[in-house]
Amino acid sequence: MTEHPENAEHPEHPEHAKGARYTDYSVGAPVADTRAPGGPIEERWNTRRFEAKLVNPANRRKHTVIVVGTGLAGGSAGATLAEQGYHVVQFCYQDSPRRAHSIAAQGGINAAKNYRNDGDSVHRLFYDTVKGGDFRARESNVHRLAEVSVQIIDQCVAQGVPFAREYGGLLDTRSFGGVQVQRTFYARGQTGQQLLLGAYQALSRQIAAGNVEMHARTEMLDLLVVDGRARGIVARDLITGKVSSYFADAVVLASGGYGNVFHLSTNAKNSNATAVWRAHRRGAYFANPCFTQIHPTCIPRSGDHQSKLTLMSESLRNDGRIWVPKQAGDSRSPDRIPEDERDYYLERLYPSFGNLVPRDIASRAAKNVCDEGRGVGPGGLGVYLDFADAIRRMGRQAVAEKYGNLFEMYQRITGEDPYQVPMRIYPAIHYTMGGLWVDYDLQTTVPGLFAIGEANFTDHGANRLGASALMQGLADGYFVLPTTLNDYLARNAGLAPVAEDHPEVAPVVRETSERLDRLLANDGDRSPDSFHREIGELLWEFCGMARDDAGLRKALARIPELREEFWRRIKVPGVGDELNQSLEKANRVVDYLELAELLCLDALHRTESCGGHFRTESQTPDGEAARDDDAFSYAAAWEFAGTGHAPVLHKEDLVFEYVHPTQRSYT
Ligand SMILES: Cc1cc2nc3c(=O)[nH]c(=O)nc-3n(C[C@H](O)[C@H](O)[C@H](O)COP(=O)(O)OP(=O)(O)OC[C@H]3O[C@@H](n4cnc5c(N)ncnc54)[C@H](O)[C@@H]3O)c2cc1C
Repeated sequence: MTEHPENAEHPEHPEHAKGARYTDYSVGAPVADTRAPGGPIEERWNTRRFEAKLVNPANRRKHTVIVVGTGLAGGSAGATLAEQGYHVVQFCYQDSPRRAHSIAAQGGINAAKNYRNDGDSVHRLFYDTVKGGDFRARESNVHRLAEVSVQIIDQCVAQGVPFAREYGGLLDTRSFGGVQVQRTFYARGQTGQQLLLGAYQALSRQIAAGNVEMHARTEMLDLLVVDGRARGIVARDLITGKVSSYFADAVVLASGGYGNVFHLSTNAKNSNATAVWRAHRRGAYFANPCFTQIHPTCIPRSGDHQSKLTLMSESLRNDGRIWVPKQAGDSRSPDRIPEDERDYYLERLYPSFGNLVPRDIASRAAKNVCDEGRGVGPGGLGVYLDFADAIRRMGRQAVAEKYGNLFEMYQRITGEDPYQVPMRIYPAIHYTMGGLWVDYDLQTTVPGLFAIGEANFTDHGANRLGASALMQGLADGYFVLPTTLNDYLARNAGLAPVAEDHPEVAPVVRETSERLDRLLANDGDRSPDSFHREIGELLWEFCGMARDDAGLRKALARIPELREEFWRRIKVPGVGDELNQSLEKANRVVDYLELAELLCLDALHRTESCGGHFRTESQTPDGEAARDDDAFSYAAAWEFAGTGHAPVLHKEDLVFEYVHPTQRSYT
């Protein structure tokens, strides 16, 4: 790891970046995953589990582990680690752990159970995920994910998660994009909610037993690294404003994705990047930040002052048919457009997968038809998702049973009844495949700092398949981390205690408080939201569904100016020693203004297209993403070098022994 003496006090000060050209990044030593065992891929996880050192049950209570986050990843990890006997200190910024963003997940969770006997297997889930990610994920991790997927369903059923069942009582499944089997388990359109309640029950039991010390409404604002190891965090009590430090033998970040850097996204409004970004600034490499997922089925934006977008679950593509008028500029209402004047473009272009092509492909296809002037609704930025056939075939009651809550949500937001008229949908930012770089043990480049769930980068490559995020979060939290963290703690049993006056702790706490004071003291005229909106719009325009060299350079030129303007013009009303949501937002925007720059640089340097990262210069004759495996078959892990300073790129070469990279075809 390179040292960054310049990354000291006030690194976000505009002076700091003067003269530095951010695009002149250097390439450092490759980063290697040294934890995945060799041998046949089916045996690697068993081998790792056997080789992992154990902590004697009587010794576990002597170890404290910090877990930041209580979504599916953090909730399951906290409950499991506490069940094992560790002392867990856990954080979330919501008023209750069960309000984590995971509760919003709708459509389902994948598992290779093959209950349908439709040809599914662990190998097929592994294959589909590597291919779906456009061959930019690590094979060992993805295989483990597929193996563990079957255990997750058993675990959740044992907890009482009310998965949908068929008439005979067996668990029901449905299809999601990019696959031809039905492996997605679901609880109507509320799968995340039901799974989170399962994890939350398990966590609550451990809170009541005194094994988990829960700090709700407390936000991590920095990472404490002592003697090169993660030993704690700095966090702010959001009610009293008190900034404190917390110590542990290891720190786990389960803080979710960073999609809200785009301002408008389907993520919960408060989801943010601060935990991972602050860890990055303290030495954790950030991998593939430009791999962001744009979901094809969101309710279109309705106006300039909107602050949030709403997802319509991918599960709707099981029965809904996507179409636009064949004629550009056809403004007739959908019921007046006859069948032979409609273009069911996904069924036409991709007959094998039809409406269930992966998200990156469906999103680009929607953008293309809208660019041709065939989009529907205000501004022509929409396509139809039509249930008329499904209602005719299955009956309204059956459709309502499967998707009722989603239809109701759509009607409440748009005022249109999707049982009567097709839904209108358009792509929007939804998920981030990039995140903190982790090895097979889910450990970052800072020893003792682990990242799980959407906060890490591992399993989805350049495009995540639907219903795979919940699978990954729960695999990490219930099964993987509890094994690999054991190993770390067993090997580091004698860590010296750390206290607030430690020379590597006190300055970080001081720096955090000073940053907040500076935000409050600035007598500017712009709100945190106005900056958030501006950086989001910039990213959407130049680093959204399509990216090119000129646009990315424009964004990279504008971001430092915006950062400078932020520190000159920011206005945060109120005080710091009570609830102050403007202060919370402003502090998050500080981090967005740096993360956005890395995101654009990553997109600029990757001159290939892959998955959700579409460089217009790199496409096949059919307009599909054209990968450049010779040049880019690696994960890009970036090392921080100071605000506005060119970061260092460390490449992790991706080796494909089992799934041979090909041009993805869903035709
Ligand atoms: C609308 C929607 C629907 C979705 N549907 C599906 C689906 O059907 N299937 C699927 O597989 N995936 C789905 N996804 C994706 C999936 O929901 C997420 O990827 C997943 O829930 C992320 O879980 P997580 O535990 O990693 O993080 P989150 O659930 O985002 O939890 C983050 C936690 O970290 C805490 N936190 C964050 N930062 C800090 C900080 N600085 N200090 C303290 N605490 C902090 C938060 O309080 C929270 O507890 C959907 C996503 C959206 C937006």
